[in-house]
Amino acid sequence: MSKAELYELTSRADFSDNDKKLVRKAYNYAQNAHEGQKRYSGEPYFNHVLATALILNNLGLDAQSIAAGLLHDVIEDTDCTDIDIKLEFGDEVLFLVNGVTKLGTVRFRGSDRHVESLRKLFVATSEDVRVLIIKLADRLHNMRTLEFVPAEKQKRIAKETMEVYAPIAHRLNMGQVKGELEDLSFPYLYPKEHKQTLDLAKEQYSKSETSLAKVKERLEKELAKQKIKFVSTDYRRKHLWSLYQKLKRKDMDIDRVYDISALRIIVNTKTDCYQVLGVVHSLWRPLPGRIKDYVAFPKPNGYQSIHTTIFTGSGDLAEVQIRTNTMHQEAEFGIASHYLYKRSDDTSWSADIFKRLLGRETKTKANVPGWISEMTEVQADEAVGADQFMHNLKQDFFTNRIFAFTPNGDVIDLPAGSTSIDFAYHVHTKIGHTLSGAKINGKLSSLDTELKNGDIVEIITSKNSKPKQKWLDVATTSLAKRRIRTSLSDKPKKATKARKKTTKKKS
Ligand code: MN
Repeated sequence: MSKAELYELTSRADFSDNDKKLVRKAYNYAQNAHEGQKRYSGEPYFNHVLATALILNNLGLDAQSIAAGLLHDVIEDTDCTDIDIKLEFGDEVLFLVNGVTKLGTVRFRGSDRHVESLRKLFVATSEDVRVLIIKLADRLHNMRTLEFVPAEKQKRIAKETMEVYAPIAHRLNMGQVKGELEDLSFPYLYPKEHKQTLDLAKEQYSKSETSLAKVKERLEKELAKQKIKFVSTDYRRKHLWSLYQKLKRKDMDIDRVYDISALRIIVNTKTDCYQVLGVVHSLWRPLPGRIKDYVAFPKPNGYQSIHTTIFTGSGDLAEVQIRTNTMHQEAEFGIASHYLYKRSDDTSWSADIFKRLLGRETKTKANVPGWISEMTEVQADEAVGADQFMHNLKQDFFTNRIFAFTPNGDVIDLPAGSTSIDFAYHVHTKIGHTLSGAKINGKLSSLDTELKNGDIVEIITSKNSKPKQKWLDVATTSLAKRRIRTSLSDKPKKATKARKKTTKKKS
């Protein structure tokens, strides 16, 4: 194997000599350890860990992560032990490697081993989110090479990717990884639908891009005339799986999907976003109700962009997306982009949103999103059974999220279907326990009202109020349910105290 990859991994300008040494050492160590092992494809096993490290390198992760990427299978699949890694590479790399290592087959078998390994992964992630990113890179390469895996395994792996790993990537705003994971799983899970979507898309992609080319040309001319600077204009094709999801909602009628390809304009500043939007709307008439300002109102995962759909004048509709370079990096690489770019533009909205998403409730290491710590707290310290674990995971984590606001404008991030009771407990345990009523958008509402994205929720508390049994049916999140149950069983324990510490910032 050529040393080009090793060079790529060790030539980064932001790496110190020690970083380069660490990566080089991990490279040689892993190559030795996996010597003689083969993948299903017949390739040397080492190629897999190398590919994982290259994905991490492209995401801009640090040297420890890349070393861990190279070493991620040595404990599981070779004779090397924890102690070897600790002695050679230190505690930090060992922690990362251990986090992604599956539990031994001796104690756990079958699907239990699977779920328990997943639980272990989340616990490690709650201390250091790099664990999860390494796992995603590992899975991405496994999916890219899934065709070589025995057929009976393919479907299980694809299903897990679609149900667990793609939603995680989405949640971390890693749009590129999410899209690729879904598109790689799609043909194994729904072969017929995959082919149908592919056939529909092929023709439409080129049709739509011919029309976008005209829009692009005219827009660039106008921006130049008005002296509005932009970084680039480009097309993005909708990922196949996400296209299929949309087609299902549109009776499989591709003519009703306006964003199969979209024109994407990258600019320098937030103000430029709105200036470009002004130019777009003065040149083409927008389709009413289709203007989405995710710059002022980011999606729950932090995604920012302005989307608008216009009548192109050639008899069809086209989507235009406008965002800054920083927003673009974040949308493509998500949480990983924070390793790539040291933030300096603290005035931007996105920095603020990321502070909210990343900063709050972080007890240990930096950069662990609040929802991960929250979930781990709920999942980890009680003997939740394997079935319940998967259920909670899907419930809290993989359902659609909404943003609701406190009257002060603080964002509370909740799964869709949440009520004021969930909201109250996510603001603060004490607020939940003393909840007596709720105003949604200024109107007194019953506690079982489902919250919608953007709702402003004012919780009314009263000293004499206490959690009620029936709240358990109204609350959706396991966090709220757990708090209520604890209070009902009337033995306050330390979980409540720990929670207090971590939610203080929000209220
Ligand atoms: Mn692996």
